[in-house]
Parts: sequence; C-alpha cells; structure tokens
Amino acid sequence: MQTYDLFIGGKSTPSSSGKYFDSFNPFTGEVWAKVAQGNAQDVDAAVEVAHQAFTEGAWANMTATQRGLLIHKLGDLVARDAKELATIEVQDNGKLFAEMFGQLNYIPQWFYYYGGLADKIEGSVIPLDKKGFFSFTRKEALGVVAVITPWNSPLMLTAWKIAPALAAGCTVVIKPSEFTSASVLHFVKLFEEAGFPPGVVNVVTGFGKDVGTPLVEHPLVRKITFTGSDTTGKLINQQAAAHLKHISLELGGKSPNIIFEDANIEDAVNGAVAGIFAATGQTCIAGSRLLVQESIYSEVVEKLVALAKTAKMGDPMSSETQIGPVTTRPQFEKILSYIDIAKNEGAQLLMGGTAAARPECGSGWFVEPTIFGQVDNSMRIAQEEVFGPVLSIIRFKDEAEAVKIANDTKFGLGAGVWTKDIGRAFRMSEKIKSGTVWVNTYRAVSFMAPFGGFKDSGLGRENGIEAIQSYLQTKCVWVNTGAPSANPFTMR
Ligand code: NAD
Repeated sequence: MQTYDLFIGGKSTPSSSGKYFDSFNPFTGEVWAKVAQGNAQDVDAAVEVAHQAFTEGAWANMTATQRGLLIHKLGDLVARDAKELATIEVQDNGKLFAEMFGQLNYIPQWFYYYGGLADKIEGSVIPLDKKGFFSFTRKEALGVVAVITPWNSPLMLTAWKIAPALAAGCTVVIKPSEFTSASVLHFVKLFEEAGFPPGVVNVVTGFGKDVGTPLVEHPLVRKITFTGSDTTGKLINQQAAAHLKHISLELGGKSPNIIFEDANIEDAVNGAVAGIFAATGQTCIAGSRLLVQESIYSEVVEKLVALAKTAKMGDPMSSETQIGPVTTRPQFEKILSYIDIAKNEGAQLLMGGTAAARPECGSGWFVEPTIFGQVDNSMRIAQEEVFGPVLSIIRFKDEAEAVKIANDTKFGLGAGVWTKDIGRAFRMSEKIKSGTVWVNTYRAVSFMAPFGGFKDSGLGRENGIEAIQSYLQTKCVWVNTGAPSANPFTMR
C-alpha cells in the first residue's frame, strides 16, 4: 500500500490532522493508496510558503529567461518519467495506459512552449497625447495561484495551468481531485530535481470543502484556475467574486457531433465513437449528442452500433483494451442512473444500457458502451452532462435545424461537424456557440490552440499564447520628462 503526503515548501509532509483517506483502483475496486487528508491549516501553510516564494528569494529574483530554462528542464524530466507517471494515473483513474502514456509523452510540450514564452512577455510604450511624459506598461505576475483539478486527466490538466502560471512568474498551490491525487504528488518531486526553489509549487490533497474552499477564500491567493463541474465552478466563481479574485473556469459540456449527409460516413462514425467512447466518455469534450441528418440516419446508426459492439473492455493496462472502467464509484452510479432516466424518457436503447458483466471486467466499475436513438434534444439525457460512455442520437432535417439543436444547451465547450462541403464547414463553425469546433475530426487539442468554453462551459482560455495573459496584470508607469508643474487641483 502506497502512502502519499502533502507537498509544502519543497517537502513531503503529513496533514496537520494526521488523517489519510483511501484512493481506489477502479479496475479492481480496491484501495491501492492512502492520501493525506488536508485541511484549512495545511492550506494556510502552503499559501504562506507560496506567497513567500513569490515575494522574496530565488524565484522572485530570477530573470524570466532563467525561469523559462527551469520550466524547460521540468519538461525533460516529465518525458524521462512518462511511463512511471502514466502507470500511476492508470491505477488511480482507470483510463487506458495507451491514453495516459500518450498524454504523458505530450505534456512536456506544455513546459517547452511556456518555458520558451516566459521571456517573450513584453509591455508596450504608450504614444501619449500629453507632452513631457513617457509612459509604458509592465506585465506583472498575479501572485499565488490556486490550481484546482478534476479526476479525468490529472497531470495533463495540471500542466495546462501550471506551465503558463510559472512562466508568468506566479507560484502555485495545487489541490488535485480527491479521487486521483497520487500522480501529482509523484510529479511535484521533479521540481527539486529541475532546480526550482522550494515553495514555488505546493500540493494540498483532500476534499473540496476542507481544502478547496479555504484555498479559494485565502486572502493571499490572487487567482483561481479551476477545471471541474459547472456546479462547483459556479460556487467558486461566487466565492472568488466576494474577494475580487481573478478566475478561469474550464467546466462541463454536452457537445454536439454533427454528421451531414454529404460526409464521409466511415470517418464520421469513427469520429462519433472517438467522441463518446474514448476515455470511457469521461472527458469534458465528449461528443455526447450525435446529430445525424435524416437521410443517413439508419445507415449511421447501423454502422455505429456495429463498430461500438467491437470495442474491447477490460484491464486498462492491456494494449488490447479500448474501454476501461469508470474512475469513481459515485460516477459509475451516476451513469447508470442517467441510463434509467433516458429509458424512462422514451429514448430508444440501441445497445448497452447496463453495468458490464463481462468476465474481463472483473469487479471493476464498468458500464457497457450505451447508445440511445430517437432522442429529443429536450430530454434530460440530451441536456445534462453524463460524463460516461452514453451517446444520444438526435435527427435533424437541414443545416438550420442542426444549428438550432446544437446551440440548444446551456453548455458550449466543443462541437464536431462532418461534411465535405467547405462552405458548410465554415458556416457551421461560425454559427455554433462553442469554444472549439472540429471539422472532420474530433477531440484534438494542442498546447498551441486556445481551449475553453462559451456559456456554462467556462470563463477564460487555456493553451496558446493567450493563456499566459490570465496569470499577468498590466501596470502603467508615467514618467515626467519635463512637463511643467500644473494646477494641483485639476487632472493632468
Ligand atoms: P468537481 O467539480 O466535482 O471537482 C473538481 C475539483 O473541485 C476537485 O478537486 C474537487 O475536490 C474540487 N471541489 C469540489 N468542491 C469544491 C469547493 N466547494 N471548493 C473548491 N473546490 C472544490 O468535478 P469532477 O467530478 O472532479 O470532474 C468532472 C467535471 O469536470 C465534469 O463536469 C467535466 O466536464 C469537467 N471537466 C472539464 C474540463 C474542461 O477543460 N472544460 C476538463 C476535464 C473535466
């Protein structure tokens, strides 16, 4: 049994309460690790050291170029340890080793990209309308950043936040999901090896109320960057507003994946499967609403069900497995309850619809890949995020109706459009209200491409050059170069 402690000021340290909670392996359903149960006192200790590292000492006095080199070195260490870190993630969240190893091999790119960007952040000279003054802007780091993450891609989502935050010069306190804390605690040990001063990166594990709330409300935390459910995101947004803190929110989705009659059907069906069954549907960008044009509805359904039926379930470490377990027991139960809701709403069950009883699934938390046809967009199964391998197929007549259905949701994270008509591809990408639109592909992300949500799917953007700005604030400096003294009782 592994034991994981908090990471504060460069050292592993037990929680002040001395308590631990269990971390489960979703494939076996058994406890595999004990994780320190943090509390407000631990949050205070972590934020204090992060604040100290931000305001004085080696990190605070480093040039941006030196910071960038450290971040780059960290990327090299992640690449070196990718296999070990991916294996830990699989034990914690049950996603396929192939998926997590792929993510771990890609994560260094975030550190290389933002490490390189660290010393390219420039202010500007303002061409003032007033003579005798020189004015310029400085881009300054915000301070201590609270990084709060969910369980589905623990290290990748942490990297999306800390790479730009550190490049900007901030320090961070990470609160990983209570379901998947282990990989982050392994990962942060690499900071010392890379040469980061202690206190720049800290981790307090534990539950939302015990650790998340005090972290969000801590007076020395200047920004919260959160990925998780829209319910928690909205709550955190209120708390942040009460203290006028900066905030970025990456929340849920109910993304439409739209197949037009002129699409390459084989590619589109592959894209539909990738959109909903990859990662066992536990991805914020899941293409959980498949919109299919009337004239090809039967053909798409037939091909989709045939392909989905070939999916192999079982041990996430096996290279043969295509669908792994659901990460947490509560999530497993939530998915099954949504399947019942869809059945009761009158959706047509085309395949799946139960927990998986296949021998290769053992006692893990597996749900059969499930497809509902004849779904109406007003049904709860089409409006609420399930976060599991459950697809709703909705018919549409023409482009106008596809747009209407696609946008008829409180979310706006991603969307897929399958068509050979280039004009239609552009029209759809303009009319769909979501942060990302994929044309003839699905679930592609990059450190270079801005990512985030419209509407209830979030605030702000991660990735790309834009993301670093959300960890900076602008200061304007005025220098009198010879303007005469003026009437002190009027504005200059
Ligand atoms: P969640 O909102 O339950 O938890 C996310 C994190 O917030 C966890 O670390 C949790 O402990 C913490 N938390 C809970 N209550 C808190 C509180 N009151 N104050 C502060 N922190 C608190 O989400 P989850 O179930 O872990 O993750 C699934 C959700 O995440 C889905 O809705 C999914 O769509 C979303 N998600 C979004 C993206 C994206 O980039 N848009 C990516 C992955 C997941």
